[in-house]
Amino acid sequence: MKLHEYQAKQIFAQNGIKIPKGKLAKSVEEVEAIVREFGKAVLKSQVLVGGRGKAGGIKLVNSVDEAVEKAKELFGKEIKGHLVEKIYVEEQLDIDREMYVGFTLDRANKGIAAIVSSIGGMNIEEIAAKHPDKIARKTINPKWGLWDYQIRELLYESNMPKEYFKEVFGIIKKLYNVMIKYEAELTEINPLVVTKDGEVIAADARLNIDDNALYRHKDLAELKDYTEIDQLERIAEQKGLNYVKLDGNIGVIANGAGMSMATMDLIYLEGGKPANFLDIGGGASAELVKEAMSIILQDKNVKVIFINIFGGITRCDQVAEGLIKALSEMKVGIPIVLRLAGTNEEEGRKMIEEFLKQTKEEIVLVETMEEGAKKAVELAR
Ligand code: GDP
Ligand code: MN
Repeated sequence: MKLHEYQAKQIFAQNGIKIPKGKLAKSVEEVEAIVREFGKAVLKSQVLVGGRGKAGGIKLVNSVDEAVEKAKELFGKEIKGHLVEKIYVEEQLDIDREMYVGFTLDRANKGIAAIVSSIGGMNIEEIAAKHPDKIARKTINPKWGLWDYQIRELLYESNMPKEYFKEVFGIIKKLYNVMIKYEAELTEINPLVVTKDGEVIAADARLNIDDNALYRHKDLAELKDYTEIDQLERIAEQKGLNYVKLDGNIGVIANGAGMSMATMDLIYLEGGKPANFLDIGGGASAELVKEAMSIILQDKNVKVIFINIFGGITRCDQVAEGLIKALSEMKVGIPIVLRLAGTNEEEGRKMIEEFLKQTKEEIVLVETMEEGAKKAVELAR
């Protein structure tokens, strides 16, 4: 889960990292009121994507009129495919120098990568490519934690000016603490700014929490910004379904992630394109199958639905029951290709054959998943 800058900054502040004064605005009027209070300000689009500055999502404003004008531009604007609905208004900093501090999971080295640079502002890949002498990197073993000597090495190796050692040392320590405490996959301050008054302050903030750890951080899970997530993905998540929207026209329902991926592979192999990935999991109930159908049918791109079930714990008769329930309660109006194999497949098929005698909906029963993929691609054309 990615947190917005304003949310991440709140957490940084709670953990002793200095941040600029700021307030969140959801309308031009709110921006106006905040800028009236702050004077010179920065309008920062709250979209969950990096490089907002370059993409035109960050505006320095020097008067209330200018703020109103820029806020009107920003609200509703699309920044790298993300709609701006919130603007974080901050007091403007007089920047003397930009630096970088970040931590990220380093799976290859089975640790946490600590990255420090004595310059910042641009993205870290660019710093590494253009100024390798200004960047330092270490793998931290989370078992021992971050040692003070490692922080000193990071400071020396990134050619950090000595006058900032003490301040930045403290910030590195506090940011590592945030990384561990919130079970983050990544956290970053870019730029870490030195102001003309010599204050060291986090001008930007990134904090991505490991989704699998969210159940231990209930207060953070509540911050999840559903406006930024596909509506259907949100509904599916609440129902306990694994749904990912894709851009093809064949709706896919399968049981298990492996089965779902194999089904998508076959669709591609036949020259088709899946409209989604929907895994109903093992042991899916009739009710869940019905929910899965209703989610897929809300995607207007879907021309055909391919249901591919291999019953182990999942029982084919339950899947058939769910499908029949769904078709009795809603109008589908597009063909369904159905492959049922495994536990109770005979019962399942019989139920479907019976149902077909009394419905106008089109269900094509197939034997194998290869045959199903071929049929689905054909029907989608
Ligand atoms: P990002 O582009 O999404 O990483 O957004 P940032 O928050 O890092 O802002 C991009 C750039 O805008 C920073 O690197 C700064 O150069 C500039 N910027 C941000 N806040 C201020 C500020 O308060 N004063 C000044 N002068 N520049 C700022
Ligand atoms: Mn930044």
